[in-house]
Amino acid sequence: MKTKCHYRLAAAFVACLCIANAGAEPSDLERQARQIARDNLLIDTHLDVPYRMQGGWVDVTQAAEDGDFDYPRAKAGGLNLPFMAIYTPARMEKDDGDASEAFELANHLIDSVEAMAARAPDRMMLVTSTRDVDKAMQTGRMGLAMGMENGSPLNHELENVSYFAKRGISYITLSHGESNHICDSSYDEHRQWNGLSPFGKEVVKEMNRVGVMIDVSHVTDETFYQVLEISQVPVIASHSSPRHFTREWERNMSDEMIRALAQNGGVIQLNIGSTFISQEARDWSDTMDEKRTAYLEEKGAPPHGEEASKFSKEYRDQNPFPYATLDDVLATFEYVIKLVGVEHVGIGTDFDGLGDSLPVGLKDVSDYPVLIAGFLERGYSEDDIRAIMGGNLMRVWREVEAFARKS
Ligand SMILES: [Zn+2]
Repeated sequence: MKTKCHYRLAAAFVACLCIANAGAEPSDLERQARQIARDNLLIDTHLDVPYRMQGGWVDVTQAAEDGDFDYPRAKAGGLNLPFMAIYTPARMEKDDGDASEAFELANHLIDSVEAMAARAPDRMMLVTSTRDVDKAMQTGRMGLAMGMENGSPLNHELENVSYFAKRGISYITLSHGESNHICDSSYDEHRQWNGLSPFGKEVVKEMNRVGVMIDVSHVTDETFYQVLEISQVPVIASHSSPRHFTREWERNMSDEMIRALAQNGGVIQLNIGSTFISQEARDWSDTMDEKRTAYLEEKGAPPHGEEASKFSKEYRDQNPFPYATLDDVLATFEYVIKLVGVEHVGIGTDFDGLGDSLPVGLKDVSDYPVLIAGFLERGYSEDDIRAIMGGNLMRVWREVEAFARKS
């Protein structure tokens, strides 16, 4: 039963936002949360905006009808620094190892983020270093940083680490849904490397040398521990959650892994998707996947075609999705904080990458103040909240840059 005070608070907060135009006054807590969001650096390390725009171009510097991100909503939510995911699907790395298609798409997606910043130079700027973050904050602009989700675009060339760093990539998620030429993936039973490939080990060292943050979201446990062994600087998980809430699901991180990450000075940026933080939502999703696979096999239909979408829609109509609540999201943060302290946690929502599975009350980039009000309500200090909002990620990023300067 989600009847705890925090959930009621979220509902009240949302209700208040809805009737704000009718003259209702926000409570002190809501006002304080909005002010904290507005006055401090707020980083979200994972938004799938570029790939969303591949599916249907839209000018997100203006209010957009769909999607989880556009400039006006981000501004209202206090977001200063979204990391735009330069995501390439795992299938683009072919069986013979050729990943030139991924290299090409990554370049197109980076171009699209550059275009976004260029379209609104008075409100947005590209951010490729912590110095740029300071500049964006000083000039009151939103910084657009970039993280590469899936290392496939490196396409077997170590020099591509510095090539993409020069193009503005600040972190690389080593793999995505399938094992690639760098390492194995948590989603893939095929473990061709038992962790990092020989090339992947060189990639980790090169990322340290060049000053690109290493992102361990999506990788297998073996890969994670090997990365920690090799990396000389702290690493991040750009959009993962604790496995504690989702049993043995390897895409999330075990307590032992979160402790090891923290011991190394790193930070886990929490994914807020319902299926990342609630076992009920995971079970729903697993059951749906199983039934859809069986249905498509029977029909002889492809896994991502029209039949698949139709099945998903009908299934959802008949079996309502059990959305997580703000209470669940706060419990996730609190769990990590109790485990390793407030210095090792941040925000990596996965907005625009989760479809219709976002928690109640946290549906897009205008909703960060709801989360902040939840922290305040649970008694967190403004210092703690600032650390979660961006201070922790900045600490790691600065360490990564400092190491590269010495290299
Ligand atoms: Zn992802």
